Amino acid sequence: MRLLILGGTTEASTLARLLAGDARHQATLSLAGRTASPRAQPIATRAGGFGGADGLAEWLSAEKVDAVIDATHPYADQISANAVTACDRLGLPLVSIVRPAWLPVNGDRWQNVESTEDAVAALGPAARRVFLSLGRQELHLFAAAPQHHYVARSIDPPDGALPPDLVFIQARGPFDKAAERKLLLDGRIETVVSKNSGGSATYAKIEAARELGLGVIMIARPAKPTGQPVDSPQAALAALSHAGPRSPRGV
Ligand code: NAP
Repeated sequence: MRLLILGGTTEASTLARLLAGDARHQATLSLAGRTASPRAQPIATRAGGFGGADGLAEWLSAEKVDAVIDATHPYADQISANAVTACDRLGLPLVSIVRPAWLPVNGDRWQNVESTEDAVAALGPAARRVFLSLGRQELHLFAAAPQHHYVARSIDPPDGALPPDLVFIQARGPFDKAAERKLLLDGRIETVVSKNSGGSATYAKIEAARELGLGVIMIARPAKPTGQPVDSPQAALAALSHAGPRSPRGV
């Protein structure tokens, strides 16, 4: 089977490891191209957008892809919508790995907000010391609240206008709880702003905030379109082994 894996996540890297050297499949891993030095992968990779659902459909046809696995991040909703549209049009099986969201537990002090803009507003007018751990693409939105001190961490440095009082930490997960606790204590952080990414790689900051009694402003997940939902890379491959070609839309 010729497979396209839409990736950029731990699950996509696991799929690449599972498929490497598997003579039954020929898989390509696609990355958004957001990270300057992505982790090396044991299968063919490509990077950068396809040009919307139309571009993705053209790529899938040109490469004679038989099935797609959407293993993208819970907040990457656009590429997932494109995958649903393109696979629907071509009648290709689409399996989507859905990573469960974190749920608050006893001791968590979460304030749920709908968007990053709402997270900026939720910080309030009084100056706070804030840890931003939500990737680099939306950091510029915090320039609207320049009264706060920010510590921001992401894999690559941010670009664009940033709030004036921002310390940037360049790091790639996974992170452990002791290190996260130290980071929050050293920075005298009062509030953490996070996406509800789910999974274990970035959960330590949530545990550390709980232990230290810190509030977390949690940005809600977008509605992310899916094909056949599964909960793991192994389940995705099992689902494909049962999948037959779908009828293209309107055929
Ligand atoms: P997105 O909003 O779903 O995608 C925007 C566009 O980027 C897509 O329309 C597509 O461009 C391209 N794209 C995204 N993923 C791709 C992939 N795997 N292969 C090829 N092209 C891809 O996703 P995003 O802008 O990358 O990220 C949205 C949020 O998700 C970020 O703020 C971040 O918090 C989170 N996130 C994303 C990733 C990731 O690897 N993408 C990883 C961690 C976190 P075309 O329409 O031109 O095809």
